[in-house]
Amino acid sequence: HCDGNSNLTGSSLKIPTIKFTKLFINGEFVDSVSGKTFDTFDPSTGEVIAKVSLGDAEDVDLAVKAARQAFDYGPWPRMSGSERGMIMMKFADLIQENSEEIAALDAVNGGKLFIMCKVIDIGAASSTLRYYAGAADKIHGTVLKLSKGFQGYTLKEPIGVVGSIIPWNFPTAMFFMKTGPALAACCTIILKPAEQTPLSALYYAHLAKLVIDVKICWVPDGVLNVVNGYGCTTGAAISSHMDIDKVTFTGSTEVGRKIMMAAATSNLKPVSLELGGKSPLLIFDDADVDQAADIAFRGMFFNKGEICVASSRVFVQEGIYEKLEKKLIEKAKATVVGDPFDPKVHQGPQTDKKQFEKILSYIEKGKTEGATLLVGGNRVGQKGYYIEPTIFVDVKDDMTIAKEEIFGPVMCLMKFKTMEEGIKRANSTTYGLAVGIITKNLNVANTVSRSIRAGVIWINCYTVFDMDCPYGGYKMSGFGRDFGLEALDQYLQIKSVVTPVLNSPW
Ligand code: NAD
Repeated sequence: HCDGNSNLTGSSLKIPTIKFTKLFINGEFVDSVSGKTFDTFDPSTGEVIAKVSLGDAEDVDLAVKAARQAFDYGPWPRMSGSERGMIMMKFADLIQENSEEIAALDAVNGGKLFIMCKVIDIGAASSTLRYYAGAADKIHGTVLKLSKGFQGYTLKEPIGVVGSIIPWNFPTAMFFMKTGPALAACCTIILKPAEQTPLSALYYAHLAKLVIDVKICWVPDGVLNVVNGYGCTTGAAISSHMDIDKVTFTGSTEVGRKIMMAAATSNLKPVSLELGGKSPLLIFDDADVDQAADIAFRGMFFNKGEICVASSRVFVQEGIYEKLEKKLIEKAKATVVGDPFDPKVHQGPQTDKKQFEKILSYIEKGKTEGATLLVGGNRVGQKGYYIEPTIFVDVKDDMTIAKEEIFGPVMCLMKFKTMEEGIKRANSTTYGLAVGIITKNLNVANTVSRSIRAGVIWINCYTVFDMDCPYGGYKMSGFGRDFGLEALDQYLQIKSVVTPVLNSPW
């Protein structure tokens, strides 16, 4: 393990120039109405890297006015689908052309591995935009025959002004997961990044403006607005706003509940919620141990465990348990924790101090409730928010670490005997986001995948996301779907038009 305080850079972009720190409203970078700013940090050192304009309810109001104007009177919803698609394609090209600079922002601000940001997050962002760009000219309703004497048709119309509230673990992928389908559906948007990671969203706002400057095509002013700020003020102003037509949210279950209540007590806007998880991975006796260990390890420790689908409860059938445990220890010990810009590093710092302390307190709780630390459990270094990949064994289903989402590099490794027991224990959670199954037996894979209540099932793989594959939760992991054409539907209304047909023979 490196000490977590290494000065290895691995890239000349270690401290990227931070060019955009203001709010982006109606096509302009502006100061907040109050003139206030907040500090944003580098979690590898804990030091301030920039001061960012702090939005509040008044700034949300201005952004909503701009988005409303752009939706009600502006050219965006009135363009042809193919024109909008072309603009989105250009936007995607610009993201790719600037991938080094943006990846450096997410790495320095979120502690994410630079190379992962560049390849995975930015790759996903541009693919998402292109996927929905392709869908922009294929939005249509159906013709309805109705009863004798009448005919009808449905129109799919944009839902209007959309508020998007996103978390800090995937600032780039989330930005486009929310804006891609909304833009394709002709909506206009107010997006609030997480206060921990405000920077890359502003860069994307700048790129939206650049699409204008190249004069090939343009994202009109007011279509895309970015208002940084805290959840309880800026986020709450979005979810309770009377003139926002829909809110799409990714984050914790606790905040999802608040957003739903704010929507209910304001204008009853529809919401979609992608919330937390405590996802089970079931590994059966017939699995290839090397492959299973690889999937389990990456499923849990990818993005330092800060991923809502993390395979945080790994259930291993007793026949291969010992071998698997050994492999996981080896993998944890071989993990290099350190500077996210160093290409030799596997795991960067947790995103912020609060999250870092929360994870360490869960580790303490695991120990006091009687689980055994198999490996890890400690802070790495004295500076920055680094934690060792940590695996607990002797975990009981009712222990806190087995029930609550830790959102950090902490795995619960458990043993099971029969498929029925595995299904029952996998289902014994309030969450229902993702499930992994590793087996060569098709009947087992089919039975388990239909028996567990969760939105995504990965068989012999894990964390495989694709633009075409809808993604979202059951139970307290939320409702609504991101990705796929299902996500597009969430930004559309269906209008039914009925007319009489005179003298119809049918
Ligand atoms: P969080 O819920 O605290 O914050 C998410 C966003 O909501 C932030 O932008 C925050 O400012 C905002 N917010 C906070 N309070 C608010 C309020 N009262 N009204 C409106 N907005 C408010 O979550 P987090 O700590 O940023 O992220 C971690 C959580 O997110 C984890 O529980 C994780 O599982 C979940 N998550 C889920 C998914 C998914 O796709 N299901 C993806 C990533 C993260």
